[in-house]
Amino acid sequence: MLYSKGMKYAILADIHANLTAFQVVLDDIIWRGGAEEIWCLGDIVGYGPDPHGCIELLRRHNHVCVAGNHDWAAIGKMDTSDFNPEAAAAARWTAGKLTPEDISYLESLPLTIEKPYFTLVHGSPRDPMWEYLFYADVAEQNLAHFKSRYCIVGHSHVPSLFECEKESCLAKKLLPDEEVVLGEKRLFINPGGVGQPRDGDPRASYALYDSDAGMITLHRVSYDIKATQARMAEHGLPGRLIDRLAYGF
Ligand code: ZN
Repeated sequence: MLYSKGMKYAILADIHANLTAFQVVLDDIIWRGGAEEIWCLGDIVGYGPDPHGCIELLRRHNHVCVAGNHDWAAIGKMDTSDFNPEAAAAARWTAGKLTPEDISYLESLPLTIEKPYFTLVHGSPRDPMWEYLFYADVAEQNLAHFKSRYCIVGHSHVPSLFECEKESCLAKKLLPDEEVVLGEKRLFINPGGVGQPRDGDPRASYALYDSDAGMITLHRVSYDIKATQARMAEHGLPGRLIDRLAYGF
């Protein structure tokens, strides 16, 4: 048996302090039979109205998590001069909402996590903090930068799959309920964003990995977008960040 038997893992990226979306995703996971462990791909905070609530909720579950650029920005571990003005404003606001425990938790997150058959990073194996995996050529350039067969990334907030053979990769969009069978080919998988989807579908996006079946399935879940937007407005977060949740972009 290639895979450890009967384990289910929930793959969540880019929660972005959207507690309403995060809770709905956790409910959906439970409705689908639950998961033994959450694999979190970073950017727990930034943009959204509930950074502390999201860290606290994640920490109540059995999980592993890598650091994202917004996690580092919120604790001053990264300069926000490369952020757009709205993202930088949200990072400053986020910093003021974190407890000392939240800060030491974010501080402790590694850049890379190795699991049997999988490498987890926020952006890319070559540049975990900054590089986006949007295109096949970038995926190809990253093949030499991790040893496992499969790599799971976040950061782009776009559910996607890169299927690679030898040195060449093919980019595919991952659709709701699409099943990715794990075989011999090396793959990059992005489960999309829980808290700020950017593929034109505003529903929260995540994936479930069934190690028994050797399969990863993408799921989309509707959540109360207006409730998150109202909380963002209440806290004076930038209007563009509030509006984009409705478009999923
Ligand atoms: Zn992000």
